[in-house]
Amino acid sequence: CPQLPQQPTAWLNARPAPATRLHASHKGNYGDVAVIGGEGLGQRGMGMGGAALLAARAALHSGAGRVLLCLCDDASPSIDTVQPELMLRHIQALNLEQLTVVCGCGGGQAIHAVLHQILTHSAQLVLDADALNAIAVDPLLQEALQARAHRQHHTVLTPHPLEAARLLGTEVGWVQAQRLQAAQQLAQRFGCITVLKGTGTIIATPNQPPRLNPTGNARLASAGTGDVLAGMVGACLALGLNPDAAACGAVFAHGEAADLWPPNLPLTANALACRLLPLA
Ligand code: AMP
Ligand code: MG
Repeated sequence: CPQLPQQPTAWLNARPAPATRLHASHKGNYGDVAVIGGEGLGQRGMGMGGAALLAARAALHSGAGRVLLCLCDDASPSIDTVQPELMLRHIQALNLEQLTVVCGCGGGQAIHAVLHQILTHSAQLVLDADALNAIAVDPLLQEALQARAHRQHHTVLTPHPLEAARLLGTEVGWVQAQRLQAAQQLAQRFGCITVLKGTGTIIATPNQPPRLNPTGNARLASAGTGDVLAGMVGACLALGLNPDAAACGAVFAHGEAADLWPPNLPLTANALACRLLPLA
């Protein structure tokens, strides 16, 4: 990887301001999020529907007007009985141009087949987990991702260090030793806001110094908390924040929720998704 000069770093210091709710408004005014992911058991025996459910529930509890859930699973249920506000859809039924899409949470290999369509058509996009892994191995998807920036379509990447290493074609050790540079390189290469997760999450925006998040703690080190963050970023985008503010605000609020979590209660991702103070 080419070395970029070390940039001065600022700290994040803000959660998203609550969205103004006009008296004469309706759910359509507060943004539509579609979560696409959650590969079913299939041949490989990897039931990952929970990841997409967590992202969708987090988007709902972060104030998005409507949340659609599209599971990459032939045996997809038609309802989330825990969170019946979520609307289950087939991907063919989504009007991607009108939606903020959160893609890749538990997507498995199934996400690869639909990702080019999503990169080409979705208005605003959060890419996580298996969407990032698919992009890492497919030059056509990398081109489609870069082309989004030229069309002014907003994209936020949320890799953990291993996902970042795959995207950069390097080792996770290098990413962890050079976190600022790794995040900056991803932002520059793909023209996307990049959230490099882990202890001291970094937010990098093309042509700007990266920022460091001061919130969060090791209680977040449990399965599914990254899916919750992806859903939160999606909700912030759908509510109309610009992509930089959406990424920064969601990362700050996600970590802050963990910092404020009652010490005697275990932090689980589903509880984090469903109990966050709404952002709007
Ligand atoms: P993922 O690896 O995709 O499940 O995402 C895990 C989430 O938890 C990310 O938002 C990380 O930044 C956060 N996280 C995990 N471990 C820690 C830690 N030790 N300190 C602070 N945040 C963490
Ligand atoms: Mg993850």
